Amino acid sequence: MGSSDSRLTAQLGSQVGHWIAGADVAGSAHDRYGDVFNPATGELARRVALASPEQVDAAVKAAAAAFPAWSAMPALRRARVMFKFKELAERHSAELAAAITAEHGKVFSDAEGEVIRGLEVVEFACGIPQLLKGEFSEQVGTGIDMYSIRQPLGVCVGITPFNFPAMVPMWMFPVALACGNTFVLKPSERDPSTALLIARLLKDAGLPDGVFNVVQGDKVAVDALLHHPQVSAVSFVGSTPIARYIHDTAAAQGKRVQALGGAKNHMVVMPDADLAQAVDAVIGAAYGSAGERCMAVSVTVAVGDIADALVARLKERVPAIKVADGMDPSAEMGPLVTRTHFDKVKGYVDTGVAEGARLVVDGRGLSVPGRENGFFLGGCLFDDVTPQMRIYQEEIFGPVLCIVRARDFEEALQLVNSHEFGNGTAIFTRDGDAAREFAHRVQIGMVGINVPIPVPMAFHSFGGWKASLYGDHHMHGPEGVRFYTRYKAVTQRWPAGIRAGADFAIPTLK
Ligand code: NAD
Repeated sequence: MGSSDSRLTAQLGSQVGHWIAGADVAGSAHDRYGDVFNPATGELARRVALASPEQVDAAVKAAAAAFPAWSAMPALRRARVMFKFKELAERHSAELAAAITAEHGKVFSDAEGEVIRGLEVVEFACGIPQLLKGEFSEQVGTGIDMYSIRQPLGVCVGITPFNFPAMVPMWMFPVALACGNTFVLKPSERDPSTALLIARLLKDAGLPDGVFNVVQGDKVAVDALLHHPQVSAVSFVGSTPIARYIHDTAAAQGKRVQALGGAKNHMVVMPDADLAQAVDAVIGAAYGSAGERCMAVSVTVAVGDIADALVARLKERVPAIKVADGMDPSAEMGPLVTRTHFDKVKGYVDTGVAEGARLVVDGRGLSVPGRENGFFLGGCLFDDVTPQMRIYQEEIFGPVLCIVRARDFEEALQLVNSHEFGNGTAIFTRDGDAAREFAHRVQIGMVGINVPIPVPMAFHSFGGWKASLYGDHHMHGPEGVRFYTRYKAVTQRWPAGIRAGADFAIPTLK
């Protein structure tokens, strides 16, 4: 391990502060602090400073001061910083993944995967000179040409959830920065350290001070960002009630905003599906990362006579999932992020039982040897869930899968389309006609056909419909470039000494 490696690891100290204008800013004795836990042991690991409005103002001012030079820099030079960042982040991917596992709890291999999926957006952003190319029309009138360009917005803000502390920020800042904006990131206060590692790597990659800043915090910091006059745009990912609040508040302040919310992703299993493939897909998609993924499958719609066989196989597989500390190489599922979240998820299992759903697998009694105080919940499986139940309607965000039985394709499609959320969905079938019909008619932003978690690649865009996204643009890919730039159309002519006089009618081509 080189000196740079040690420094990254050492970042996970007993206190987490901010990153403003290219330097660490520690919390002071007067600051408010939040608790950060090691979810696998249940121990308090460190404390995170919660930014005051004054500290937020300092970060926004640093970003605003860095904007003129950064936005004026040729896009190719900005792309080179992104190339360098990608190289450094790849070299340090193990430290980044370890930081994620330490505070989030997900298994290390999954954390590594998160870093790689995030870096794919950096790869996309490296193509920014091509992506920013405008359009040109010669001779739109006699001696008149017209062209369009896309220009950066200014200071952009990212407010991110706990469940992907590296990947979700990387959906945002690589595209924002490559387009010429400067950035203030407000990560989740539950796993705040990864953002600081990223900030340091960006600096090492040659990013000028002030272009990327991190403020840790809670609602106080978020509200200060939403109301700051020098903030131009806000990207948010988190739960639906907060997404709605962020969208409405930022829009009322005249800011551009994209706010991605919660989910309840249905996987439809048709009677002709390959059962073994469908079972493997459900197990990984429902219980991977302990169900704390916005694209997790939380409802499986079993169509027709496949239901009994599907439930029978899941009943065997779910209790066999290896639940352990995320740093244990044999772990398939880690703990939930906090005790509060554990209590909430467990409470939903209690509710499901009270509502009359059939609890086929009960993970509530699980204890992990040597980690008895960790926030571990074993996989839970409900059968005979109905649309009237809270466990069907609400996002649980834990390792709890609901099976709903449907008579046929139409009933399954109706279920998906009637649900409040519209993030992701999938259909498992060997019938191309049914799959095409599903993809065409389903009211959901991201659709998988025999793919349980259809997260779009970085060069496409990520986003849901209905209560899963407020705003007009999905994230990263072409939609990201549109979100982080403003369109400008220029009409030009260079008349050589001709004076036609004033024209009072709208110019037209006759
Ligand atoms: P959350 O909504 O509690 O928090 C998200 C962010 O908002 C955090 O930075 C938090 O500090 C801030 N925040 C929380 N309460 C706030 C308030 N009252 N006012 C202002 N800001 C506030 O979400 P979470 O628990 O961190 O993450 C899980 C949620 O995120 C789930 O609902 C999940 O579906 C969703 N999510 C969605 C996507 C997507 O792409 N649609 C991706 C990942 C996570």
